[in-house]
Amino acid sequence: MPGLQPPPVIQIRQVTKAYGHGDATVHALRGPADPATGAPLGVTLDIEQGDFVAVMGSSGSGKSTLMNILGCLDVPSSGRYLLDGIDVGHLDESQLSLVRNRKIGFIFQSFNLVPRTTALAQVELPLAYAGVRAAERRQRALAALELVGLADRAGHKPNELSGGQQQRVAVARALVTAPAMLLADEPTGNLDSRSTEEVLSIIDRLNATGRTVVLITHEDEVAHHAKRVIRLVDGAVIQDVRQAPVQGPPPALRAYDLDGVRA
Ligand code: ADP
Ligand code: MG
Repeated sequence: MPGLQPPPVIQIRQVTKAYGHGDATVHALRGPADPATGAPLGVTLDIEQGDFVAVMGSSGSGKSTLMNILGCLDVPSSGRYLLDGIDVGHLDESQLSLVRNRKIGFIFQSFNLVPRTTALAQVELPLAYAGVRAAERRQRALAALELVGLADRAGHKPNELSGGQQQRVAVARALVTAPAMLLADEPTGNLDSRSTEEVLSIIDRLNATGRTVVLITHEDEVAHHAKRVIRLVDGAVIQDVRQAPVQGPPPALRAYDLDGVRA
């Protein structure tokens, strides 16, 4: 393969997403219009390994639709999506859930933690789905909690943690499988400014060690952390600005992977 640059972790080609039928059709993702026919040409986008992309746009602009497609939680109406070289359009539901588990770490605005379950058990969960043995699971979950500064809260349940701490547990859960990409939808939307800074500095640190991050946000202060900012209006990318260069992952990073682990 020519060059040293790895292929983009995300390749989106002419992706559209429409909801509903007939007069009630909503084109949630459409991209630019074909000048001749006016038909939607779809969204085309590459995201490099190690990039940190903020997706911005007002309510209804298509951010969550894009996030759901990137996260293999929904499929495009047309177009192709390759994640880490895999054409996800060819996968069935069980293969998609495997891809979600192996390739993507999700962080949501509402944390999505399991009630009455310790931080350690929450972070072990994706490893359990991946078939990692108990002893290794524990060790890796503790290391992930340590990384987000919560090693001393491993035995705490969500209702015994602050909002910022709960989101840091969710970040640990997202990174424990060493996914190709972290996908965050308004991760600081429910946090006070101090917790916001804590969570963003962890995400910054993860990106600095080579993790690819895609983060959806309304807030300029949050988008400042990103290396690239994409703006959506009415389901089309209207602006794509690089704020800082991408640093590729250090070679060692790929070794700390789920390869070799039975899924
Ligand atoms: P954002 O996250 O930027 O607020 P969304 O991606 O949620 O935007 O929505 C984009 C457009 O698609 C909106 O007009 C929304 O009403 C519509 N939409 C989203 N999900 C659905 C759905 N399941 N059924 C019908 N319309 C939807
Ligand atoms: Mg949304």
